[in-house]
Amino acid sequence: MGNVVAFGGAWLSVRSQGGRLLLRVEDIDRERSRDEIAEGQRRDLEWLGLCWDEETLRQSERDYAPWLRALSSTTYRCQCTRRQVREAGGVYPGTCRDLDHQQGALRLRLPSGGRGFLDQSCGQQQMSFEHTSDPILVTRVGNVAYPLAVVVDDIADGVTEVVRGCDLLAHTAAQMELWELLGASPPSYQHMPTVLGSDGRKLSKSHASTSVRELREAGWSAQDVWRCVLPWLGIHGAETLSDAAERYLPSGVQRGPITVLRATRPGELDYGALTSR
Ligand SMILES: [Zn+2]
Repeated sequence: MGNVVAFGGAWLSVRSQGGRLLLRVEDIDRERSRDEIAEGQRRDLEWLGLCWDEETLRQSERDYAPWLRALSSTTYRCQCTRRQVREAGGVYPGTCRDLDHQQGALRLRLPSGGRGFLDQSCGQQQMSFEHTSDPILVTRVGNVAYPLAVVVDDIADGVTEVVRGCDLLAHTAAQMELWELLGASPPSYQHMPTVLGSDGRKLSKSHASTSVRELREAGWSAQDVWRCVLPWLGIHGAETLSDAAERYLPSGVQRGPITVLRATRPGELDYGALTSR
């Protein structure tokens, strides 16, 4: 359901503005990426009636080396373990910034201060880099990491608007820095509400019966799914998805997480209280 909210929001936003919607397979994490997962996601999107205009290069096909070279003056090697970062409170304190290691993970050196931006759904945001870890761009074993890959992909694909889940909101200011360091103007951002399970955690495979495939197998139609999701996106009384796109306004999107306790009959979910930020 969380993916339906995020991709559905992207679809509605693009269609409401007459833009082009790109589909990208983000398979930078080779161990967790399988062709059948991407295939299942395409099938889900088609079943939901969400069409895209173009499928762009997948991450495993792109060469990130030239982009990394452009960042050489603002990166440094870090040899801290995950455990050390956890023990420092979860935010990397910049231990290796001036140690001049020759090996280790490659981190981006964020500037001091912070950054403000206008989120199209969540409103004005102000983020301090004092509470942000310098992002890892390349892992200690030499794999390009997601924070670098996603920004390079978006720049190379000419992306002008990013619509995604609120769980990524906290990373946005650092990503905007990366856009500028790579010589590009950051896109506009819209962060959609996350959908949580009854335990207050983001919906995932461990929560029963709310994946698109499971709902479909339980007899839900695509219309049943949209009847639940569209009101979260601020749309009421739309007959079709194109009808919904005409009514879509980023400012109408529900703020704060949505808690789904369980799927009941087709078209009906048990909700927790809708909490506002
Ligand atoms: Zn370090």
